[in-house]
Amino acid sequence: MSGFAIRPQYVHRFALTISVVFLLVLSAAPDLRAEPTDPAPENGRLLVYLLDHQMVSRQEMAAIQQEINSIFEDQAGVQIEWFIDASPRRRLEINELRVLILASDGTRWFHGPSNVIGLAPHDESGIGRNCFIFYRQALWFRQQAVLRCREAALARTQAEASGVEPGMAGEAIAPASCSDYLPELTPMIVARAAAHEMVHILLNKLDHSPTGLMRESFELQEWLAASLEPFRLLPEEIAALRSRLGVVSAVADGS
Ligand SMILES: [Zn+2]
Repeated sequence: MSGFAIRPQYVHRFALTISVVFLLVLSAAPDLRAEPTDPAPENGRLLVYLLDHQMVSRQEMAAIQQEINSIFEDQAGVQIEWFIDASPRRRLEINELRVLILASDGTRWFHGPSNVIGLAPHDESGIGRNCFIFYRQALWFRQQAVLRCREAALARTQAEASGVEPGMAGEAIAPASCSDYLPELTPMIVARAAAHEMVHILLNKLDHSPTGLMRESFELQEWLAASLEPFRLLPEEIAALRSRLGVVSAVADGS
């Protein structure tokens, strides 16, 4: 690595420090506006300021945005206006959010290892506006999926070699098509974790739902199959999002 290659990283780290300090100040500031009295925005759009401290590739950034769009727009009819690496330095409105992709694994936040991928701190009034995604956790999660997929392939090969009907040998571990989902898995994990945190904030929802995107945690198996079912919003969550953001347009067919 040349010195020129290293320099931007310092600049980047500096920018991260600034924004974290800024966020702490924001969350510590007394909030005099009670959430229920905030009127819904008129145009029904959601403005997302995506701050990428991981410096993901353009392709990965596009995949992240596309998946978040598909959750909000296809399922709930909520259109997102994106701002990449830009954020106003003021208190955000109810139809605005910051999503920060951090290079960290969150260890410092949790004072030790954890399985948390995303975090949406609420301030005293319950209206935080920042979703933090720990990119290294998404990488770790993907690595677990790779291991699971390899284990399944091995079980199939061994079954075949010993003349046993492959049958459920690998299927119970992971579907035969699991490797199809591995290349896109990291941005998928980042996007769904971000969407989950975004809903927490938009609905001022501190608890979790029994099924769908707003569950407390996802199963590894679910990432290795085509079904979107485990990552769907519940009808009541969709209704609440639409009302919160003043969405009047019809929902696209998200089936
Ligand atoms: Zn949650």
